Order: sequence, then C-alpha cells, then structure tokens
Amino acid sequence: MSPRDKHQFLEDDLEDRKRKNQFRTLGMLEPAGNPAFIRKNNRELVNFSSNDYLGLSRHPLLKERAAEFARKYGAGSAASRLVSGNFTIHQHLEEKLAEFLGAEAVLLFNSGYQANSTLIATLAHRKSTVFTDKLSHNSLLQGALMSRASLKRFGHNDLDHLKKLLKSAGQNNRSRRSLIVTETVFSMDGDRSDIDELRTLAGTYGSLLFLDDAHAVGVWGEGGRGLAPHDGSADIVLGTFGKAFGTFGAFVACSEQMKDYLVNFCPGFIYTTALPPPVIGAIDAALELVPGLNTERKILHDRTRAFRKSLNTMGFDTGKSDSQIIPIIIGEEAETVRLTEVLEEKGFFTTAIRPPTVPENSSRIRVTLSSAHSDGQIDTFLSILQKESNRG
Ligand SMILES: *Cc1c(COP(=O)(O)O)cnc(C)c1O
Repeated sequence: MSPRDKHQFLEDDLEDRKRKNQFRTLGMLEPAGNPAFIRKNNRELVNFSSNDYLGLSRHPLLKERAAEFARKYGAGSAASRLVSGNFTIHQHLEEKLAEFLGAEAVLLFNSGYQANSTLIATLAHRKSTVFTDKLSHNSLLQGALMSRASLKRFGHNDLDHLKKLLKSAGQNNRSRRSLIVTETVFSMDGDRSDIDELRTLAGTYGSLLFLDDAHAVGVWGEGGRGLAPHDGSADIVLGTFGKAFGTFGAFVACSEQMKDYLVNFCPGFIYTTALPPPVIGAIDAALELVPGLNTERKILHDRTRAFRKSLNTMGFDTGKSDSQIIPIIIGEEAETVRLTEVLEEKGFFTTAIRPPTVPENSSRIRVTLSSAHSDGQIDTFLSILQKESNRG
C-alpha cells in the first residue's frame, strides 16, 4: 500500500464527522485570575462550564504548596511507585486521605480516566459479568470493554432492571465474579444514584460494588468526603482531584486487602510514573482546605436549587438534575448552539452538548455551578435566558 492509502481512513472518518456537523475542535482559552472566569479572544467570560466547584484551582495555598513541593522534591517522580517513585509524600497523602474519608485504605492514581479503565479490567475478566448504568462515564465503559467480561448495561438509574439482570446472570452461573459499576453523581445529567439500594443489591447477589464519586468528592457529604460509603459496602470508590479539589490526579478508597491486590495486579497503577511532587503538593493543600469549606458547599447547594427552580419556572427542562451539574435541555441542536452564542456574546461561557454525546433531540447547555460565582452572575445569566425564551 502507498502511504497515501494508509491514511485514507483519517480523511474518511473526519469528513463523515464534518458532514454530520459533529466535528470537534479545540477551543483556545486562557485561565483568568479569578476561578469564576475564563479568557477567550481577550475577553473575560464567566465560566459556567468548569468542574472547579469550590474555586480551588486558583487558591494561593494550592499554588504555594505545589511550588514548595517542586522546590523540595523536584518536578517529577522519575519512576513508577513500585520501582523508585514511591516517596513519603505519596504515602503520607494516602494516609491523610484515608483518614479524611474514613476509609481503610487509599491508593493514588494518575487520573480518573486511567483509574476507571484499568481498575475494571483488573477486577473483572472474561468469565465475569460487569453491570453498568447506560449513562456511565466513558472511562468506566472502556474498563468494562477492556476486561472482556460479559457486559450488561442497565437502564439509567433503573435498579429494577439491574436486579433482573443480576437474577438472570446468577442463574446461569453462580461461581462467576460480577461487578456493579455506577456513578454517585452523573456527569452529564447531574442526577444521583440510589446508593442504599445499590448496596443491598450488591450484598444480595454477591457482586462487587464500584462507585465513581468524581463529582461528589469535595462537594457532597460531611466535610466534602463525597456520597459513596466507606464502611466496606462499596468495594471500590473512585474520586478525582481534577474537579472540586482544583488540581489533578485520582484515588481509590478500598480495603487494605483490595489495595494490596491492586498494587500487585493493576497494570494502570504498576506501569506508570508516580504523580509528580507539585501535584502531590497541590492535592495536599486542597485536602487541608476542603473539610473547612462548609460555607462554600452550602452556598453552592442553595444556589443550585434556586437556579434550577428559576429555570423550571421559566419553562426550561433541567431533567432529573439534583446536583451542581444542571443540563438545560433545549432539544433542537441549532437552537442550543444559538443560545450558547447569545450567552457568550453577553459574557458567559457555556457548552452545547449535542448528539452523539446525548440522544437526538436532547441537545442541551450543560451548566456547572461553583461557589466562586457571584449571585449577580447567576441573576444575569437567568435574565438572559428569560429574555431569549420570551423571544420564541
Ligand atoms: C471526570 C470524570 C472522570 C475522569 O476523571 P479525570 O481525573 O478527569 O481523568 C471519571 N469519572 C467521571 C464520572 C468523571 O466525570
């Protein structure tokens, strides 16, 4: 084959995307001094599209501790944890995190995506069954596919459906390992799962329970420790530091035995360079701050409820959102894009989420709120939407 032929698929697939109006490009942005803003084309826009729920990404303590750790320990860890990259700072952070969460043990991972995809493939194998919610994050789905387990997807938050699937899988072979995988707060719809019922089902059917707490850690639960339980009823709890913690990286909370297992058998932990010291420093600082941010959490939750209520009163559909993630479901793709353009013109950065990410005719503006926003910003945003909804 000529070199030209071997690249034909690139052109074909990209052309296909463009034809369907689904071609993605990277937007050029700059961070602003204030975490409530983002800079685009030299304009400061209020950022309604970030996961920096507590505004920690620009916090002086995180920046200072990152710099301090870089000075003291270097810019990189230079090896995987099992080789020569396991410093006392990694170990101490895991101990502090376990204490904060009330978990038996914690193991750091380099990102939530990496953790999810490798963890599921470690815990499940060809003879296992993995049950995942239909709206599970892509990283969880990748993990399930990589494991080569039999994959059963239950309707979104439909635990009756999950129960039926568990029942029929159990009848086929009782000795096979199974794993229930879901999120506590769903990243696209902002709704939450029924954790008590999930624990009951996992207990009844002897399934491992894997809970992705990415959007809850820092924001929900006592002292911001998230929504997932740490009493052993969930076998794996995944959290990330890229969202409310304002930095980067991820962790798993589990039993000591599970941690030993992962250190021995999880490729995405074993064969990767340990998180660099500046990142460990930033996480360490965030962990110092997060338990004390009750006021910020209350502001965020109160604001979220009021925001949703106002939108619903104006006639906007916010789905089943029950968190700081609020989809404003417009339906039509063109109208959704138009609204985000109007919002940007008036100083607000939002993202239109369109098919194939969401089903046809459910295009939406996905809004994420932060305690760093001001009441005035929220009011202005709402009045713009009010005006636009009266237009049609
Ligand atoms: C963001 C996200 C992840 C990925 O975490 P990163 O640390 O950003 O890689 C995993 N699961 C869910 C539900 C997420 O929203």
